[in-house]
Amino acid sequence: MTDAHALTLFNSLTRQLEPFQPVHEGEARVYSCGPTVYNYPHIGNMRAYVFADILGRTLSHKGYRLTHVINITDVGHLTDDADAGEDKMEKMAAEKAQSIWDIARHYTEAYWADIAALNIRQPAQWSVATEYVPQMIEFAKQIADKHCYEIDSGLYFDVSTVADYGRLARAVTEEGEGRIEAVDGKRNAADFAIWRKTPAGEKRQMEWDSPWGPGAPGWHLECSVMSGKLLGFPFDIHTGGIDHREIHHPNEIAQNQAFCCTNGLDIPANSGARVWMHNNFLVERSGKMSKSSGEFLRLQLLIDRGYHPLAYRMMCLQAHYRSELEFSWDGLGAALTRLKRMIMAAERLADVEAGAPSHPKLAAMIETFEKAMSEDLNTPVALTALEDVLAAKKVDPAAKRAVVEAMDAVLGLGLFGTSRADLRLRPKNAVISEAEIEAALAARKKARAAKDFAASDTLRDELAAKGVEAMDGDPLGWEWKLG
Ligand code: AMP
Ligand code: ZN
Repeated sequence: MTDAHALTLFNSLTRQLEPFQPVHEGEARVYSCGPTVYNYPHIGNMRAYVFADILGRTLSHKGYRLTHVINITDVGHLTDDADAGEDKMEKMAAEKAQSIWDIARHYTEAYWADIAALNIRQPAQWSVATEYVPQMIEFAKQIADKHCYEIDSGLYFDVSTVADYGRLARAVTEEGEGRIEAVDGKRNAADFAIWRKTPAGEKRQMEWDSPWGPGAPGWHLECSVMSGKLLGFPFDIHTGGIDHREIHHPNEIAQNQAFCCTNGLDIPANSGARVWMHNNFLVERSGKMSKSSGEFLRLQLLIDRGYHPLAYRMMCLQAHYRSELEFSWDGLGAALTRLKRMIMAAERLADVEAGAPSHPKLAAMIETFEKAMSEDLNTPVALTALEDVLAAKKVDPAAKRAVVEAMDAVLGLGLFGTSRADLRLRPKNAVISEAEIEAALAARKKARAAKDFAASDTLRDELAAKGVEAMDGDPLGWEWKLG
C-alpha cells in the first residue's frame, strides 16, 4: 500500500497536531504506562492499550521500526495518584492475605490474557518495576542534590526547581487544588515522593535499602527510569490515559528535565519524550467501571455474557481515541454485529490469495483509509473505508484480499483469523446447550417460512424462558443473546 500521507499526531504537551518526526531515522520508540497489577484491569484500562496498539500498528504500517515498551507496576502506586494513601499492592496483599509477588503474578497474567484476547500486539518489552529498583536509586541519586529534599516520609521532588512544571496538565495543580493531599513538610503542594521511606518500626513486604533508608520507589520515578533506560532520552512517544496527563506525566516530565536538563518545555525533547499522547476515558454511568464496585466491567464479564472480546476492540475503534466513549451493552451488541458482518464478508475471501492491491475502485478507499489513520489515528473513518472495500463489487478478489489484509494489519480486528462461529460465545449462565438453541432456532425459522406464527412464537417463548432472546431483526439468522 502506498503512503502519500505523513503521520500527524496530537501532542498533549504542545496541544496541537504535529507531523511525526522520529528522533532516530526510520525508528519509532514508544513507552506506554502499564497497569498496576493489584487487581484485574477494567475495560476502561484496556482502552488505553487498544489505543497504544493502534498507534504502534500505524507506525509499523508507515514503515518505522517500532520499539514499544509497556511497564508493569508492581510497587509504588499509591491509592491516590498524587502521592498519598497506601501502596495499592501492599493493600491488596494484606486484604487477600497473600504475598505481593503472588498478587502481582496473578494479575499480570490476567492482564496479559486480556491483551491477547483483544488482539493487542506484544510490545518489544514488558518492563517490571521491581526489576529496576537499583537503576531507580541511581537516577534519584543523580537528581537528589539539585532537585530533591528529604523529610520524614521520604525523598521529595521540589517542582519549583524545573522550568514549566505542570505544563502538560489541564487542571490546576497549584496549592489548594483538591486532588493533592497535604503531606507534612512538603515545600510545594505539587511536590511528590520519589522515594518513600518505610516508617520507623515498620516493615513493608516490599522494601529496598537506599541512601535515604529502607523504602520503596515512587510510582512516577519508575516510569522515568524504565522509559529512559530502555528507549533513551529523548524518545519518541509516551502514552497513557488522560488521568495521567494531570499528575503522573507532569511528574515524570519534571524528573526527566532534572535528569537531562533543566530547560523549559518549549523544546519538546526536554521532557524526555517528544510527544505525549493521551486516550480519553471509557465511561459508564452506573459506576460499574470502578474496581471497588462488586461486579466491575472486566473483559471476562463481557465474555461471560456472550460478547466476543473483539467486539470490545471494535467498540473502541468506533470512537476517536481523544473522544470520551460511553459504554453500554447495546453499544457493545451493535459493535459485535458490525464485526460479524465484516467477518462474514472476509470469509468470502478466505481461500483467495492476495495479489497486487491495485484496482481503480479500491484506490479511493485506500486513500480514505490512509488519510484517516494519518490524521491522528482516525479509526472511525478508517473502519468505514475497510467496510467499503469488503463490500466493493466487481473487484478482483486477489486485490481485495490484499487491501483488506493491509487495512486489518493496522486495525487488528483479526478478520482472517476469526470465524463467525468463533464470535458466537455462549453466555456462561445460559441454561441451555448451544445445540438445543440451534435446533430451536432452525425449527423456528421453518415455522416462520411456513407462516406458522403460533409455532414460531411458542418456540421464541420457550427460548426466552431459558434466557435466550431470539433476535428476529437479524438477517444473519443465527444471532442469539441472553435476554
Ligand atoms: P492503572 O492500572 O490505573 O495505572 O491504569 C492503566 C491505564 O488505564 C492508564 O493508562 C490509565 O490512564 C488508563 N485508564 C484508567 N481508567 C480508564 C478509563 N476509564 N478509560 C480509559 N483509560 C483508562
Ligand atoms: Zn507511568
